[in-house]
Formats: sequence, structure tokens, C-alpha cells
Amino acid sequence: MSYFFQIVIMALSVFVHQLYSKYYDSTPCGSDSPIEIDGIWFLDDDDNDRQRGGYIFQDTCALFSSEYFEAREKFRNAVKKYNTTLMNNPTTTTGTSNSNSDASVAATAETAHAELWSSLVAVMDGNGPLTLDVAVLPGNTKELGTIVHSSGVHGVEGYAGSAIQLALLELLTWTSQKSEGKIDAEHRPTIVMVHAVNPVGMNQYRRCNENNVDLNRNGIILSGGEANHDSKNGDSVDVDNNNNNKIHDDGIYASFQDFLNKRDPNIAGYDDFRHLFVPEIDTDNGDESNDNLSLYETTIGFYVRAIPALAKHGMAALKRGMVAGQYHHPEGLNYGGQELQSSVQRLFDTFVRDRPEFFRDSPHVLWIDVHTGLGAFGKDSVVRNAHIEHNPEGRRNNEDDPELDDYLTTAYSVTSSVDGERSTAQAFKGYDLSKGMLMEFLGDSYRKIITLQSDSGGDDDRGSKEGIFLVQEFGTLPSIFVGRALILDNLLYHFRKNRHHRRRSNTNEEGRGRRDDDEGFSYRSPFLGYAFYPQSTEWRSSIIRRGVAIVLQGMEYSTARSKSRLS
Ligand SMILES: [Zn+2]
Repeated sequence: MSYFFQIVIMALSVFVHQLYSKYYDSTPCGSDSPIEIDGIWFLDDDDNDRQRGGYIFQDTCALFSSEYFEAREKFRNAVKKYNTTLMNNPTTTTGTSNSNSDASVAATAETAHAELWSSLVAVMDGNGPLTLDVAVLPGNTKELGTIVHSSGVHGVEGYAGSAIQLALLELLTWTSQKSEGKIDAEHRPTIVMVHAVNPVGMNQYRRCNENNVDLNRNGIILSGGEANHDSKNGDSVDVDNNNNNKIHDDGIYASFQDFLNKRDPNIAGYDDFRHLFVPEIDTDNGDESNDNLSLYETTIGFYVRAIPALAKHGMAALKRGMVAGQYHHPEGLNYGGQELQSSVQRLFDTFVRDRPEFFRDSPHVLWIDVHTGLGAFGKDSVVRNAHIEHNPEGRRNNEDDPELDDYLTTAYSVTSSVDGERSTAQAFKGYDLSKGMLMEFLGDSYRKIITLQSDSGGDDDRGSKEGIFLVQEFGTLPSIFVGRALILDNLLYHFRKNRHHRRRSNTNEEGRGRRDDDEGFSYRSPFLGYAFYPQSTEWRSSIIRRGVAIVLQGMEYSTARSKSRLS
């Protein structure tokens, strides 16, 4: 590599960074102006007298956190505040008022007070528990169904989703104490908020979980009519990752292992780019005190490798190779794991096994999973990953049935990837070979459980059922920079982890020889914050507006659909 070439690339990268400097705007929070949300439908008792109004988020900085533990505490406090407000405004409660404030006592769906519980995912040394937190704000589930809002499937992306959830809680708390024009619990669906599906990634500012697994590639849909997913019940055939004689991939998998056996590792060209995605660097560089990547790696290394690779394969192939996900390189990018991860299992357990009122017994489910990193800066690309409609005998879809898309008026784009359709949104190009998408997995679980219920004669013959599973994706940087950040983060993470393991096995007699001792290992990515959680005021304001709007629009849709269903 000539010196001249390197200097040219260096100059180019500085130029490009200047060009995109707005993405790196990092005004310290405290100066953000209030965010006003207009056009909220306030649902009154009298349907003929609905009114539109606005709400202003005065303290917008308070919605955003810079650490996982801060976000968790804010979320839990906001739920408690919601409950306190309800208690102080007894006239606003509906149904049976829950006098027991112990959140560990399961409330009924008719209870107005919010439930709040934590599910332990990991414990970090001295840092406290890393949990997936769930808040249930009971509404009129029987008629209006359930809206689920989840954040942090991709760790660091959870700061945006967490801020939206805080905004929603603030709005619902405010509106519950209004005497007029409120969003009464009776007139809205039950709202379930899942905070930090991947708390470890959120804490580390990474996208993957504690096992370097991308949870959005991990929900492999298994065949069989039963709404059951047990990763341990797979056949025990050893997977040979270098075996190119894969069993024919028919898209039907009896177990996670079966899927691994059938998946061609290079189906999307991951291995063609492996030297770019996971460059081999010298981890024994002699200087044990320096745990940072070399200046070369953090400045031009990526471009030096990327430009020839791009020239050879093209941008589309590069993106596909990166985003499709892979299952044979545990230290690589977008690794989907070798078994179902506990966070995904917990969602399955909650919504499919333990709480039938959310999925099975609800006439309508709308799930909104918030992500960041793809698409235009601050804009939301919405993709429908699963849409299940189930009509009892004799009931046909009515031409006048409302369409969700007509309600999502503020979304930058709304597309679909249901039933082999490909999302046409720019943000989702190259995802056609991806498997294990969480919303598809949960959509399939929903389909199985309502079909099962119908077959066993337990169908509620009053109407049809519908489940819609969306991803709301907020754009940040142009994808080439997001990709670069992901590659650098992965490189640094494994570099430090391998060094940590080596030190542990060298210094600790008992631990000698063990290469997987994570005790005392802490990591915070210096690369992914700006790529997935921009600090710009413009960006933050946009995600609050759009993130709150889509939930309110979902509520309107639920109301319209309920009327149509019962008519
Ligand atoms: Zn994501």
C-alpha cells in the first residue's frame, strides 16, 4: 500500500466526516427546547365529541439517558408515578381499583393500575442487575386489544426506544388526571411496554447480547403447529460449520439445530467479506497496558479494506453480506447464535405461555419494536414483519375494514415484508436473506396460538383476530459509517475480551487454562453511540414526535378496528 494512497484516503475520510458533522452534534443535554406533539386524539366517553389537542414535553433532556441503569430507573419511576397519579385521582380509575400497590402481585386486566416487573438477564460486578422490565398499563383489552411497545432488542438502540417509552408514560400520566379530553383506560387498548430486551448490550453500548448474539437474528421459526419453542429439544446432530454439503434448505426447521444444519454459511456472501468484517489483527502487540486499537485501525484501516472489496462486489452485496446474519462465526458480525437466547425466550414465555390476555384472548395485537441505525436521519421507516388475520367461520373481511397504513400518517415510509413480499423501503434493502427476525418470530408464535385456540373450539365467535408486528426504525448515519462503527466495535470488543481472558488465565491459578472467564470484564463501546444514538437535538426531537405518534395512531386504529369488527 503506497504512502500516497493512504494519505488520499485519510484526507477523503476527514472530508466525509466534515460533511456529515451534523450527525456528530453533541450539544450537552440541558439546552433542548420543549417538544410539542400536535394532533393527538383524546378519546372521550362520547365518541361524537372527540377532540384533537396537543401536549408539550417540557423537559426533553429528562427523557434521554446515557447509561442503562439510568434508563432503567427512569422507566421504573415513571411507571410508579403513573400509579401514584391514578391513586390521587380516584375518579379516573376504571373497573376494580387495585388497592394493593405491590407490583409483584399480578393485577387483572380490568385493574387500572400499572403492573411493573423485572426479569433478570445478567448481573454485572458491582453494577447491579441487568433486567428486562415490563410495564402493563391496563386498558380495555377485551374490545380494543393490546399494544406492545418494545425497546432495546439491539442494546444501544434502546436509548431511543426508552426515551419514547418515558414520553408515552408522561403523556398517559398527564392525560389520566385530566377531567376532560383524556385518554381514558376504558377507551384505549392495554399498553405493554417492554424496556431493554437486551440490557447487557444497552449497558455496553453494543447491539449484541452477552453472548455476542444479535437477538434480531435469533428467533428461528420452527415448524409444527404447537405454539411451543424449546431450543433444547433439537436433534443432536453435530453441526459442521465448514461442511459445504449442507442438507437442502427447505425453510422448514424442526429445531434450531436443524436450521443450523441446513443454513448455507455463505448464503449472503458473509465469508466473501470476512477479512473486512473481522480483520485479523495482532492481539499480541507487546504493549499490555494499551487496550486500544491501533491508530491505523481506527482511522483508515476500514477504508483501505472496504474500497477494494466494494470495487469487487459492490455496495449492495456488502450490505447483504453484513445484515443477513450468520450462524457459524461466534466472534463475527450479526451472529445469530446457536440456540434461542434467554431474552427471546422470556418474551415468548410472557406473551405466549404466561399471559394469554395479551395474545390469545386479545382481539387485536399491535407490536411496535423500536430500532435505530437504518434510513434517513431522524426519520422512521416502518416495516410490517408479520400480519396475521384470523376470521371465524362465516366472517369475511369487510371492504370497509380499516387499514393500519391509513392511520400511520406521520411515518416516513410504511412497507411490508409479509408473505414473501419484500420491503421496498430504502432502509431495509438487502434484508431478504435474513432469518430469525424477532417480529417475525413473535408474529408466528401469535399465529400458532390463535390457530390452536380456534382448532380446539375455544374461539370467541364475536369477531376476528388480528396481530400486526412492526419495526419502527429511525435513521442515524449513512450505512457505510454505521457498518464501519459495527466493525470497529466488534474488533475492539473481542480484542479486549481475549486479552482479559489471557490475563485471567495467566494470573489466576484456579482459572489457569480457562479462556472464557468473563469475571471482571467490563466494556463500553466508544464506536456505537454516535452510530445508533445521536445526541443531536434535531434527532432526539424527531424520534419523540414520531415514536409517540405511532403509538397514538395505533390506538386510533384499534378503536376503528374494534367498531368494524363488532359491526
Ligand atoms: Zn436494530
